[in-house]
Amino acid sequence: MDYEVVIGLETHIEQNTKTKMFCSCKNEFGGAPNTNCCEVCTAMPGALPVINRQAVYNTIKAGLATNCEISKTFYFDRKGYFYPDLAKAYQISQLYVPICKNGKVEFEVNGKQYAIRLNRIHLEEDAGKLVHGLFGETLVDFNRGGVPLMEIVTEPDFRSVEQVMAYLDTIKNIFKAIGVSECRMERGQLRCDVNVSLRPFGSPNFGTRTEMKNLNSFKAIERAIKFEISRQTKILNSGGKIVQETLRWDDVVGQNYPMRSKEDSQDYRYFPDPDLLPITITDEEIKKIKNELPVLPAQLKSEYKKKYGFSDYDATQLSKNIEISKFFEECVKAGIEPREASNWIQGEISNILNEQVGEEIVIKLVPINFAKLIGLYKAGEISQASARQVLRKIWDSNEDPGEIVEKQGLKALSDDTEIRKIVEEIISKNPNAVNDYKSGNKKALAFFVGQTMKATQGKANAGIVNKIIIELLGE
Ligand code: ADP
Ligand code: MG
Ligand code: ZN
Repeated sequence: MDYEVVIGLETHIEQNTKTKMFCSCKNEFGGAPNTNCCEVCTAMPGALPVINRQAVYNTIKAGLATNCEISKTFYFDRKGYFYPDLAKAYQISQLYVPICKNGKVEFEVNGKQYAIRLNRIHLEEDAGKLVHGLFGETLVDFNRGGVPLMEIVTEPDFRSVEQVMAYLDTIKNIFKAIGVSECRMERGQLRCDVNVSLRPFGSPNFGTRTEMKNLNSFKAIERAIKFEISRQTKILNSGGKIVQETLRWDDVVGQNYPMRSKEDSQDYRYFPDPDLLPITITDEEIKKIKNELPVLPAQLKSEYKKKYGFSDYDATQLSKNIEISKFFEECVKAGIEPREASNWIQGEISNILNEQVGEEIVIKLVPINFAKLIGLYKAGEISQASARQVLRKIWDSNEDPGEIVEKQGLKALSDDTEIRKIVEEIISKNPNAVNDYKSGNKKALAFFVGQTMKATQGKANAGIVNKIIIELLGE
């Protein structure tokens, strides 16, 4: 039997504030262990927390960017549990009144529009990090302890892995666009707990769910969900029952393992933190923050469609990542025709980005250099193949494309007589292709163009080559 999958996500996003959530320690990734911590974030007796205003402001911004209602009065709760990376033996979090609730995130999968409801976004502090040594010892590094952390909880609205991936891509880009986090997953700045259940298609009730915690790459999330769907399908099809439990995903083995069942699920003994006063925010303040929101990817997309006449697909590709949209706009500013910039970004630049390691998009190419390169190409000074080659040279070197063309002898062959001589030779050597061409086979033209390019190491001006072949062989 086939089942419908139901998924809900809890996503943790670390903020990029200058200082931590409740103290003035630096919020900085890495650093020598335990160098960014103080009495507060290591829970010395008597130390008192002070709320980081910027972190609250950022969370409201995040809520507004995801269509949430903002609570007018909210406060922090203590979530009690013991773990060596949590010095206070409780985490300051929000249970009863989160800063943001009832949001909505929209995205597209295969041209179809979806909306996922957000249950809440609340603000809390991150825990420290355990470091396991070679000899079985465990050390704790509190540098990350107390970093402002937002948790975005969705309703169980996802019905496919593809929807989950598109949603994550969308919120990652929104949070980056509003500038509250870099969302670098390899640094743990975006981590995801996935809740998965199955039910027969058409059933009004949800099945029993399992949860996989702290997945920290898009690949791992995708694989873990697919694995869990097939694991649950097998159990249900053999007449078994799903046990509600927390599973640990092992990305190396590609399999999940039981971690804890619902029976030993913890009672966190939440209660309002008496050290921190409730915060009240006015409509005017919310409105002001709303006005400070930048143009979000979805708005940018419709702007590009209107301004440049881009197709829906092109507009999406250029607007969904802030690194890409920023670069695209700089290209246009540098004088590259928008459609030309779009073609290159979705062509060779996208190839280069795909070859880079890691999931981050890093563009070091200097727009002015790129514009010069496009200029040379558009003027017929270099062929497309050479332009691609030069693009890879200037990708992270800030070299002048003109100089590279000069130095490497890439100047396009635009000399009519010279190209004509080469084409004539190819024609005389390939009578079969000539016959093909004359009997109307369109592919034969491409053959002659290809041979000419080969003979000139890709340097021949494509327009002139085409013109000469047609001239010599007829239309
Ligand atoms: P907890 O805090 O114990 O993890 P919540 O009720 O807050 O439980 O739900 C956590 C997540 O689980 C939410 O994202 C929610 O959408 C999701 N979820 C709840 N029920 C199901 C279900 N039957 N199948 C899949 N996901 C679910
Ligand atoms: Mg949970
Ligand atoms: Zn501190």
